[in-house]
Amino acid sequence: MFDKKSINKSYTYNNDHNPVLPADTWFQNPPEGLTLFIVLYTLTCQWSQCLGCNLPSQMSEYHISYKNIIKQIDYVFNHILDDKKKTELKKIILSNNGSVLDEKTFSTTALLYFIAMMNMNCPNIDTLTIETRPEYVDWEELEIIARALKEGDTPSNLEVAIGFEAYDEIIRNEYFKKGLNLEVFEKFAEKMGKYGFKLKTYFMLKPVPQITEKEAIEDIKNGIDYLDGIAKKYSLYINMHLNPTYVARGTPLEDAFKNGEYGPPRLSDVVEIVKHAEGKDISLYIGLDDEGLAVENGSFIREGDENLVEKLSEFNRTENYRLFI
Ligand code: SF4
Repeated sequence: MFDKKSINKSYTYNNDHNPVLPADTWFQNPPEGLTLFIVLYTLTCQWSQCLGCNLPSQMSEYHISYKNIIKQIDYVFNHILDDKKKTELKKIILSNNGSVLDEKTFSTTALLYFIAMMNMNCPNIDTLTIETRPEYVDWEELEIIARALKEGDTPSNLEVAIGFEAYDEIIRNEYFKKGLNLEVFEKFAEKMGKYGFKLKTYFMLKPVPQITEKEAIEDIKNGIDYLDGIAKKYSLYINMHLNPTYVARGTPLEDAFKNGEYGPPRLSDVVEIVKHAEGKDISLYIGLDDEGLAVENGSFIREGDENLVEKLSEFNRTENYRLFI
């Protein structure tokens, strides 16, 4: 059972979820082609500290056996993906709202089974993305995974996705409680470059109440410049996945929002950031979904934002910077 004593959150867990069904799945259309995002239902994230995050609330407080996780995988390949989608699919992002490489939450047997099923069912996959905190990365394990990915009909690449959230050390670690320092990240990035794996980094726009809108925008711009330098230095493919922050239920951000100390960022701020990324050595994807986890009026999408949502969705599909001239 997960021990919640040390975290400052009031959400409860989704213990009633049927353990043979995934927590969630959805399709995306980035420039790389049709993508399936899969969140398998497992024991909750063992870190669970990050200030505005309530993703662990979608998971179980109790261990989920590898046999049940395998049934969830079967469900994805038998019921979520039909034959057409299996052929069209170019990318899968595998998540458990925590760390897929933490064997305490996500069984290694189930992970290897997932790769076997993907190889057998989806002949055109270009990339498998695995979400994890960097401390769970075991390079020998990644090498084996990467080798198995090359055995599919189309040799696939491995992408590792980590939460970075904010560039500034104080915002990231003191306010947001990410527990990631730049030195650890750089060593990780260097090794990723040596192995030839791709790197995805999740950032959040205005993730804490202590900063202004202007400071929040600057922080992401600094993050873009920093990743641009890292991509060049280590010959690394990097994608920044930028999530404008929503007010997640059961987190300290909800209290700050209710007390008038926090308001979510605006999509016009996101556009300013997109413009800054043009010409940089990284790709950019904007998260436009609160996954139904925001409190009322706590979303970054406001009335009248329809046009911007449409343009940003088109940017996600095309990476066409001309849309914002
Ligand atoms: S952001 Fe990731 S690591 Fe942090 S609490 Fe949420 S799921 Fe866990």
